[in-house]
Amino acid sequence: MNLQQVKVNLLEKKAEIESRLERTHKHIYHKDEPVSANFNEQIKQTENDELVRALEQEGREELRQINKALQRLDSDEYTLCTGCGGEIGEQRLLAIPYTDLCIECASAADS
Ligand SMILES: [Zn+2]
Repeated sequence: MNLQQVKVNLLEKKAEIESRLERTHKHIYHKDEPVSANFNEQIKQTENDELVRALEQEGREELRQINKALQRLDSDEYTLCTGCGGEIGEQRLLAIPYTDLCIECASAADS
């Protein structure tokens, strides 16, 4: 499989998540806008913050997995399963480029 293309895809995804994290971070800490003095508006903002925080968490986890995948690409272990040492399989890597488990090990981990 074309690992160079996989790497390009991962780097693109990484840049996308990083810019998203930057936006959510700004949103959480209200760097661009002063916190509203209106009470109802504040409540709404708080609820929104929780949502954004959850998104930020999710983004950080994705970023962690992508960085791990990029390291694996550089060490030539990218296509090998960390569970059993077998080949992960091209179709699976194309579908989930940051996975480090083959389909058997992943389904074993899920159950
Ligand atoms: Zn495996």
